[in-house]
Amino acid sequence: MPVLRQLTACSAPATQVVEGRSREKGRALQYRVEVCVRHRWLAQHWPGRCTKREPGGRCGTMADHRAYLQVVQSHVDTWILPLTAQDLHDDNVAAALRAAHQWMEDAYGSPATARGDLWYAVAAALGHAAWLAEALAAGLTAREEGERQVLAALSAAELIAGTACGR
Ligand SMILES: [Zn+2]
Repeated sequence: MPVLRQLTACSAPATQVVEGRSREKGRALQYRVEVCVRHRWLAQHWPGRCTKREPGGRCGTMADHRAYLQVVQSHVDTWILPLTAQDLHDDNVAAALRAAHQWMEDAYGSPATARGDLWYAVAAALGHAAWLAEALAAGLTAREEGERQVLAALSAAELIAGTACGR
């Protein structure tokens, strides 16, 4: 089952869809991203075959079919690293998310000092994702279920971060 992500808070209908496929044999579908005219630029993060969308889809919706670590890495590459300067090292998801959360806490840790409540919410959402990754690493959740929870939390944090950026 794909991980469903929401890259924008835009409510416009999607006008184009990008499908990224594996370079290996079989060319398995890796992700499918839908964007509107105004958010076409977002698709630059997502190489693939671009086609016109039939009416019905919503801008910013993404179905991500890749493996856990690849999805985490794409969150890091597209928004966590640009926002917090924290990268993923040695596949240690818990450490990367905790470092990103700490960075956000230091920058926007209190609603009183935050540049805006939305950045405070991004910090809180990243903290939640970090805690889930730590629980998974500690064996408090079964692997598949724990990974599903981490990715769901990251999807929520990604949407709040996109909203904070005005997407
Ligand atoms: Zn849009």
